[in-house]
Amino acid sequence: MSVAEAVQAGTLPGRVWFYSNYHCNLACTYCLTESAPSARRRVLAPATIIELAGQARRLGFTDLGITGGEPFLLPSLPELLTELAQVLPTVVLSNGTLFTEARIARLAPLAGLPLAIQISLDAPDPERNDELRGPENFAKVAAAVPQLVRAGIRVRVATTVEPDRLDEADHARLCELHRSWGVPDEDHLVRPVIRRGRADESGMGVVFDHSQIPAELTITADGSFWSPFGPTVRQGRLDTDLLLTRTVDPLSRPAEALLALVGGLPAGADAQIGIR
Ligand code: SF4
Repeated sequence: MSVAEAVQAGTLPGRVWFYSNYHCNLACTYCLTESAPSARRRVLAPATIIELAGQARRLGFTDLGITGGEPFLLPSLPELLTELAQVLPTVVLSNGTLFTEARIARLAPLAGLPLAIQISLDAPDPERNDELRGPENFAKVAAAVPQLVRAGIRVRVATTVEPDRLDEADHARLCELHRSWGVPDEDHLVRPVIRRGRADESGMGVVFDHSQIPAELTITADGSFWSPFGPTVRQGRLDTDLLLTRTVDPLSRPAEALLALVGGLPAGADAQIGIR
């Protein structure tokens, strides 16, 4: 079975993820990658991402994702996103704290393209949200999301919580907030903290094995991985338990390695703990 056939059959997820960088202006309590301003950057060159995105489309993948670190720390990110969204529908993950007026203006070409910015918001009030994510995070997200929506950019809101810790009242308040900002219910995700990186250090989150998470091909400066939850960092060292290949170009090499592994799993095995 080819990669394209496997994607069409649903055997292989259609999205390819790229870790654009590992540094971040925040240092969240549960960060999988131990990201922080001083973290090793591990930047994946934008030209490499564009080349591999084109290969992904030719292989039959259907979607792209950009994550980090905080991707918007890269000066050329708006232009990179504009190029990627013309290759395949793209989602970029962000902490939502870097959206100055100037940066939003540079995102104007993205309006109408198949691109979504997925912004983290973990609690419906500043105290609890900022305790995990840093001072003024809530206020910055609350300011950025409506501006991005007004600029014609699709925004998704991602809430990451300890398993079973989001009670109904908090969930309802989060939904009131994102609806008031122009983000519909289908663009609000709630997902568990994953016990890797800093979350592992502090005993937070859900423990998983690779068969419980979708096999979404993930490309980093250090190689390819089973999932975006693979290339995590603990005590400064990259985790390699979910490493597929050190070679990422041609993309067919890691794609075929992933396909060979996925072929041995029972259907539906990746849906057990609700990680998206
Ligand atoms: S969780 Fe995201 S926003 Fe927080 S430190 Fe890690 S990369 Fe940065």
